[in-house]
Amino acid sequence: MKKEYDVIVVGAGNGGLAAAAWMAKEGKRVLLLEKHNIPGGCAGSIVRGRFEFELTLHELCQMGPKGTGEVRKLLDELGTDVEWVAMDEAFHTINTHPTHGFDVEMPIGSKAFVDEMEKEVPGSRPAMENLMELNRMIADAIEWLASYQNDPPKAQMLVKWSDFMKMAAVPADEMLKKLGLPDKAREIYESYWDYLSVDCTRVSFVVYSFMVYTYLTRKPYIARKRSFEIVLALEQRIRDFGGEIRYNTKVKRIDIKNNQAKGVELTDGTYIPCDRIISNIMPTVAFGKMIDPKEVPVRDRKLCNARTLGPSGFVIYLGLDASADELGIRGYDTFVRETADTHILFEKCKTRASHRKIFNYSCLNRAISDASPEGTCMIMFLLLYTEDAFADVTEENYFRIKDQIVEETIDYFEEAAKVRIRDHIEELVTASPVTLARYIGTPQGNCYGYAVPMWDGMLPRTMSGEKEDYTVKGLRFCGGHGTQMDGYSQAYLSGREVARYTLKDMKEGR
Ligand SMILES: Cc1cc2nc3c(=O)[nH]c(=O)nc-3n(C[C@H](O)[C@H](O)[C@H](O)COP(=O)(O)OP(=O)(O)OC[C@H]3O[C@@H](n4cnc5c(N)ncnc54)[C@H](O)[C@@H]3O)c2cc1C
Repeated sequence: MKKEYDVIVVGAGNGGLAAAAWMAKEGKRVLLLEKHNIPGGCAGSIVRGRFEFELTLHELCQMGPKGTGEVRKLLDELGTDVEWVAMDEAFHTINTHPTHGFDVEMPIGSKAFVDEMEKEVPGSRPAMENLMELNRMIADAIEWLASYQNDPPKAQMLVKWSDFMKMAAVPADEMLKKLGLPDKAREIYESYWDYLSVDCTRVSFVVYSFMVYTYLTRKPYIARKRSFEIVLALEQRIRDFGGEIRYNTKVKRIDIKNNQAKGVELTDGTYIPCDRIISNIMPTVAFGKMIDPKEVPVRDRKLCNARTLGPSGFVIYLGLDASADELGIRGYDTFVRETADTHILFEKCKTRASHRKIFNYSCLNRAISDASPEGTCMIMFLLLYTEDAFADVTEENYFRIKDQIVEETIDYFEEAAKVRIRDHIEELVTASPVTLARYIGTPQGNCYGYAVPMWDGMLPRTMSGEKEDYTVKGLRFCGGHGTQMDGYSQAYLSGREVARYTLKDMKEGR
């Protein structure tokens, strides 16, 4: 059959959109296939009554003003037109522990952060200043790596960044203790832990600190018109560059023969030949359900099986008939924890029964005051489950379980934030792991890709991305499950990275 396309991208999530846009910008004939009638996957918004709720985005990392952060540069290079909003706060943490609890609002800017920490934890300044200096070095090293597109001269890397390489192998919690941070300062600093799918005893110090430092120095960002604005901007650029997009088009099978991608088969039986496929669908699903088992290389199956799924989420969207000021809601993004021990929190998040008082909530009106009609506001709650917490759910008990989680979360919120919202709920929407599993098509409703323990963190993944990734010729993977780890920014970066590898493959005839 005649091959009409240079590359087929399966899935129009953040990663798939970025990969398709990059390939199209480079003049390749791109076909992007999406099973839903709209693009975005996790990214988007829903309208209920007077409210337009952000579906998922609390904050984007690695942005900064024009020409600065890696993600900002990427989106600008693609020519996307988005009205960005930068946040002036890092986070608000409410730790409800009866004896070691705290309630802190941390600013952005590394100096302001250290100053605030000194106020909260007197005597923490020297260790915090050392930490920020190390963070600066980590950010420089990662920028240097990115300048070589993650394939740097290895000897130079060992000489120039030997401290960075050593720290990459140390868990965040251990390194922070070695730096002599007082316990409370370490606990506040570790507030972001669940953005990374494993707790601070198992995530690399370099990975954790890089995330914190980029938020502090580049600021967290969101799009003024919700994340769907970013999605539509990317979609527009794909079309401008001549790419083709088909919605309501579900791929049933990725055709592999003799370790070579051959094309895709759609659910209506249509076969589209193409020897380059970029899958925005995670490898566990592609290899497990979409590729003939006989054609899955043993090595690829083993790599999939060695990885652990990251968390799934339960989301509650509330539209309230009073403003954030009237209700007394502080801060844009708040973490509520019942203890500061991230390992205990990770364990508690495994089941519904043990998942208590562990969630984050964001009030969009605290970032964009007119995000909803005057005299109203919106809150999004996110509870993460670190294992398959909905495995026992049946059709009969599903709604009761959802109601119970909503009731408990509102109770915990009112108790922790000391804010009454129950009588002000005008709209209430929930999305459970089951919703996520059905909508984006991940196992257990996973929304954070693969977990990032030490052996499978950002550095090992990016450094082996091109040569040692999955081995089927012509098939590459991008998205929150990719080399750059989970999240919006990482999905965009992974889309570009995989597009670049695919372009190189094409050039070198691989
Ligand atoms: C509640 C929540 C809050 C979050 N908050 C943040 C945050 O504040 N900051 C942040 O950086 N990240 C956040 N994330 C994570 C972030 O949303 C994801 O990591 C990222 O969007 C994943 O993008 P992806 O490219 O992997 O695509 P996905 O979003 O997984 O999309 C995959 C796409 O593939 C399509 N698809 C699936 N199967 C098929 C098929 N067979 N044929 C065709 N198409 C198919 C799907 O419909 C979907 O459009 C959050 C996630 C959730 C759920």
